[in-house]
Amino acid sequence: SIPLKVPITLPSGVTYEQPTGLFIGGQFVPSRQHKTFEVINPSTEEEITHVYEARVDDVDVAVAAAKHAFEDSWSTADPEFRARCLYKLADLVEQHAEILASIESLDNGKSLLCSRGDVDLVSKYLRSCAGWADKMFGRTIETGSTHFSYTRREPLGVCAQIIPWNFPLLMWSWKLGPALATGNTVVLKPAEATPLSALYASQLVQEAGIPAGVVNILPGFGKLIGERLCTHKDIKKVAFTGSTATGRHIMRTAADTIKKVTLELGGKSPNIVFADADLDKAVRTIAFGIFFNSGEVCCAGSRVYVQDTVYEEVLQKFKEYAESLKVGDPFEEGVFQGAQTSQMQIDKILDYVEIGQGEGARVVTGGERLGDKGYFVKPTIFADVTEDMRVVKEEIFGPVVTVSKFSTVNEVIEMANDSEYGLAAGIHTKDVNKAIDVSNRVKAGTIWINTYNDFHQSVPFGGFGQSGIGREMGAEALDNYTQVKAVRMSI
Ligand code: NAD
Repeated sequence: SIPLKVPITLPSGVTYEQPTGLFIGGQFVPSRQHKTFEVINPSTEEEITHVYEARVDDVDVAVAAAKHAFEDSWSTADPEFRARCLYKLADLVEQHAEILASIESLDNGKSLLCSRGDVDLVSKYLRSCAGWADKMFGRTIETGSTHFSYTRREPLGVCAQIIPWNFPLLMWSWKLGPALATGNTVVLKPAEATPLSALYASQLVQEAGIPAGVVNILPGFGKLIGERLCTHKDIKKVAFTGSTATGRHIMRTAADTIKKVTLELGGKSPNIVFADADLDKAVRTIAFGIFFNSGEVCCAGSRVYVQDTVYEEVLQKFKEYAESLKVGDPFEEGVFQGAQTSQMQIDKILDYVEIGQGEGARVVTGGERLGDKGYFVKPTIFADVTEDMRVVKEEIFGPVVTVSKFSTVNEVIEMANDSEYGLAAGIHTKDVNKAIDVSNRVKAGTIWINTYNDFHQSVPFGGFGQSGIGREMGAEALDNYTQVKAVRMSI
């Protein structure tokens, strides 16, 4: 057993109380079997703390609490009340922004710069969802004078939400926001590598006045409790963000009980630089596209395509820019790229560097670990690649990018679309017609023109192809958490 709160001292010298329990029915509790697991600081490879590990019996208790909260109050609450709770939660996130950002950098390894950006979007998104709560409209349908017909949008019930370790708090908000605004209750499982921010934020959920049982947080392992969440008869929907392989498995597992499933999965997104682009801006943007968040981004622009007439120039500028980025201690001022999140992840990245070299790709810069403590990798650029190489085809999920050459629009569209994924794409050009033409023909859920990794709470995000099903953020996210009821009345 461990205490339900432990003091943790951040690199800034500030000490805070970290909850370690499961958050069920509005309280922090130990797991029923009193199992715990270790949480590692990826920048030092040292233990931060232990937290309780939920097991199958804990899932059942949490689902029962969520079901009770759904039926008892939340699904039928005045939407204005739900809105007020979410506005309050957004305010609290803002008030706790610095501590939340620090927890995120400690647990995930990302730079404080990235964490602060995440937390900013968290509060904006929660506020955006709050605004939707009392704007869920049905329709009246003209069906003649003998009948009156209309639709209502009703919540689904208890939703399981399974999130990854690359944006722990941001994914917490992308999942909770639309579910709560529309009257659902949730059991959310953070990734085992990064449970701390969601547990800390559970205190804010309480303080915001969100009734007990509406939000339940279960740290634990995917293969055990993730599976249980996907088969539990009282769970009506599974919302998942993570790898395509796990997404595929979840879809199969959830099929037996016909749960609604939304998936936000992997990618291998193309980032296209045309010769007429503002090349300096394009280089900064493609660098941000791949090195932001240490490359652990589902929509990372990991395949760069440069028009042949400017290929050498762009490659040279890209190399210089990548080498100028400060990599290291996430808490140090000016650091852009922190640590990769886990041993597993850095091993995978370094394996891919070897695979790429074995395939004949040239390392222009990077390609190696930085320092001997912590999971740091240098920003890495591969050139002289061919489209059939594994480093061009497969998601690496780290600061590793391939650069290819093209000559015509048709050629680059074919290269861009030659992927089972379809999450995002970038286009760099000053020619508006070309930008629109290419954006219409590239198969991806998000197209960024002269920008990249540029999220907005009102703009939907999600994948084509094997990058997923459903959308996060924007009005579309709400559709994934409601079902339409048609009412037809004889008069
Ligand atoms: P993962 O997809 O296995 O894990 C994501 C979440 O799913 C975690 O909370 C995990 O506990 C849970 N999970 C795992 N197995 C489960 C199961 N059988 N049933 C229910 N839930 C389950 O990802 P990972 O193993 O942590 O990382 C592997 C690779 O996935 C990475 O190297 C990266 O390429 C990719 N990835 C992509 C994203 C993304 O946003 N696209 C996020 C994380 C990882």
